[in-house]
Order: sequence, then C-alpha cells, then structure tokens
Amino acid sequence: MAATSAFDLETALAERRRLHRYRTRLNTDAPAGRETVVDGRRYLNFCANDYLGLANHPDVVQALKQAADDIGVGSGASHLVCGHSRFHHALEEQLADATGRPRALLFSTGFMANLGVVGALLDKPDAVFEDKLNHASLIDAGLASGARFRRYLHNDADSLAAQLARADARRKLVITDGVFSMDGDAAPLAALCDVADAHDAWMMVDDAHGFGVLGEQGVGTPAAQQVAARIPVYMATLGKALGTFGAFVAGSEALIETLIQFARPYIYTTAMPPAVAAATLKSLAIMRTETWRREKLVALIAQFRRGAQAQGYTLMDSATPIQPLLIGDDAAALQLSGRLREQGVLVSAIRPPTVPDGTARLRVTLSAAHAPEDVDALLAALGEAPSSQD
Ligand SMILES: *Cc1c(COP(=O)(O)O)cnc(C)c1O
Repeated sequence: MAATSAFDLETALAERRRLHRYRTRLNTDAPAGRETVVDGRRYLNFCANDYLGLANHPDVVQALKQAADDIGVGSGASHLVCGHSRFHHALEEQLADATGRPRALLFSTGFMANLGVVGALLDKPDAVFEDKLNHASLIDAGLASGARFRRYLHNDADSLAAQLARADARRKLVITDGVFSMDGDAAPLAALCDVADAHDAWMMVDDAHGFGVLGEQGVGTPAAQQVAARIPVYMATLGKALGTFGAFVAGSEALIETLIQFARPYIYTTAMPPAVAAATLKSLAIMRTETWRREKLVALIAQFRRGAQAQGYTLMDSATPIQPLLIGDDAAALQLSGRLREQGVLVSAIRPPTVPDGTARLRVTLSAAHAPEDVDALLAALGEAPSSQD
C-alpha cells in the first residue's frame, strides 16, 4: 500500500482526536424520555430533543402500530409517484391548520426540507442571507443553491440591514433559526422582518426547536412573537418536540406547489412510512391540547437556571428547553460531561466545529418527561462550576 495517498484519512482523524473533537456514538437501548440505557447502565437523559415527552407516548406508539397493521411499513414510492398515503395527506392538512397557513408539505427530514426549499426558491441571480449561527442544514442549503451567500451577525438586524443594502439580486431570502439549536435563544423576528420588508426580501424561519415548545398550542416562534403573517416560509421538524420523525414546510398555495414541482429532495426520495405520519397526527393533537407539557417545561427551565447560576455556571440567554452551560475549552467540556456520566447523568459536550472555537459547552436539554427531582439530580451531579472558567 502506498505510504502517502490523496486519501490519507488517518491523518485527519488523528488530528481531530488531538483536538478533543473526535465524535463517538452511544449505543442506547431504551425509549427516548427522562432516562436512557447505555451498555446496560441506566442514565438520566438530558441530551434528547424530545421536549414534550412524546417520543414514547402510549397513544403515539399505538397510532403507529395501528397504521402499520392497516397499511404496512414502507410507503413504496416517492410522494409524486404513489407513496403519498391518506395519512401523509391528513397530516399535511393538520399542520396547515396548526400553523394557520393555506397549505403544508411533508419532507422526510428537516435537512432535506431545508435543501429542498432553498434550492427550489433560489438560483444564481438570487441572494441568501443567513444568521451566522444557523443550523448546518441551512448553511449547506444556501451554499448548494448557487445563490450569493451572505452571513450576518447572530440575531443582529443591523448587520442584516447592512448586508441587504449592498445586495443587488433578483430574489432575496433571509433565513434564521426560530430557536438556535446550540444556544437556545430565539431570533428577534419582528426586527428581522422590518429589515427584510424594507429591502423587499422574504423571510424563512427554521423552527425545529420552537415548534411544539413556543406559542399558544405550541405552534411556534413566529406565533409566539406575533409575526407569523410576516413570514412567508415556515419550516419545522417532527423529530424533536413532536417525538416522531420528518419535517414540513408551511406557506401559501403557490409556495407549496412550487416545492412539489421543483424541490428535488422532495421529489426524488421515498415518502416517509405512512405509519410515522399517523403517529405524528396523534402527537400533533397532544401538542396542541396538552398545555400542561409546556407549563411544566417552563417550570423545569426556571428551576435549572436558578440552580446552575447559584453553582457558578455561565448560562446562555435562553428561555427554551435548550440550556447550555458555557465552558469554553474543548477538553474541559468533555471532562465535565464524563464526570456527569460517571454519576449516571447524560449531557453531551458540544464542541467546534458545531459551535465557534472557544465556546465548547454542555448542552442540557429539558423535557416535559423530566420530574423536578431529575433536575435536582442533574444539579447535584454538576456540583460547583469548574474553576477553569473563573
Ligand atoms: C435538527 C434540525 C434540523 C434537521 O432536522 P432533521 O429532521 O433532524 O433532519 C434542521 N434545522 C434545525 C435548526 C435543527 O435543529
């Protein structure tokens, strides 16, 4: 074998290890929820995105089983061929109703929804403007679209305005996360909409972490901020607060028809299993009606923030179930995550390149499935903040 090769994979892997940025996977063996099991040991779980505790809800599980009995497992084809079942269609109608928009369209994953929307709306004569901290799928979607690609400072409407003022493009699309996945803060949507309107740009919100959690009935960040009508493109996922799998885009009749005709990640892929859509119909109904889940989350969030602050941790500006503890150093974040694990508590250390250099953090996520005693146990395991952040 050649000693040097263009595909010298080992060197890049070794470098990632040296930087304490090597990723490994846990083999879990329990339903998502307040606990998980890894290698036969039980842990309190503070790293899932199952914010409402629906991933293992008996009615959601039952809906999946019933639909599988009725219609089988695989959808058999893409939506445009013959994979679009009555369950998919009913879910789209319910998602449109929940988000107060004429129509909604299901995608197999959030990553694909973002690639699909941006790719269908933009081309070379266009420009896309993205928050610096947008999710990787939005960044990739912007780059892949071929449009001019600009990033503005995080949650900074002035920075966006400066970028838009310099832009000369056919279509201008501004994209932001509704709630930022690694920070937990929400976008200032009214201010961003004002700037977008002034420059004849469209707004798109990826609400993967807001849908189910924020707003009356959990219908999302734009509704919570009373700007839903100003955002023509609303995207959210179903694998987080809804506890199932998949994603959707909601908007006008013309937007949805455009996606059906032109969004390649919609057209050229197999439709999600119809039983997953049936399960999501159930979790969507629970999301809208069981307000106590959001109220419980609010209480758990307040409890955690009070406790972590008292123990000397640096919290981030987050009112959502994403409650990162800023550590800074990659190795220190890993070490703290390891210490928690020894005590039976799972919290993931998030390191660059997922977050900017020097901002490694423990990403604590809370769920309505947790009890106040679980948060107490997390705080006890955390102990005082490590002195390296003094
Ligand atoms: C998780 C996530 C996605 C991707 O959604 P999947 O359905 O998991 O592919 C997209 N955007 C944001 C902001 C996310 O957090």
